[in-house]
Amino acid sequence: MMSVNIFQKIIDREIPANIVYEDEKCLAFHDVRPQAPTHILIIPKKVIRTHADLVAEDAPVLGHIHLVAVKLAKQLGLTSGYRLVINCDADGGQTVPHLHMHLLGGRSLGWPPG
Ligand code: AMP
Repeated sequence: MMSVNIFQKIIDREIPANIVYEDEKCLAFHDVRPQAPTHILIIPKKVIRTHADLVAEDAPVLGHIHLVAVKLAKQLGLTSGYRLVINCDADGGQTVPHLHMHLLGGRSLGWPPG
């Protein structure tokens, strides 16, 4: 049997997460190992393994999670800015095979990333 990815288990409420937002298309929750004072993961409910697998029909949900990021950044008080990150596959540092967008903020973030 194919193992269910950990984010699908969060969507299905099989494992707990600190959820901050949910609608029919996406879920947002605090990253369990935060890399900044605010570190939220926003995930489409549709399982898209990685960014490179995106197809035309995924465009609306991608736009949607960006708008959710704007809403959450405001709600969480990220008034001086924030960063959105999508890691893709091995070189991108992706560890969970379910497309997710990191929303990071609450401190000044360095560039370039590691
Ligand atoms: P990435 O490395 O881009 O695939 O990001 C995966 C992120 O998921 C990492 O920042 C992890 O800390 C986070 N993560 C893994 N498992 C959980 C979990 N059960 N709840 C919340 N965040 C998680």
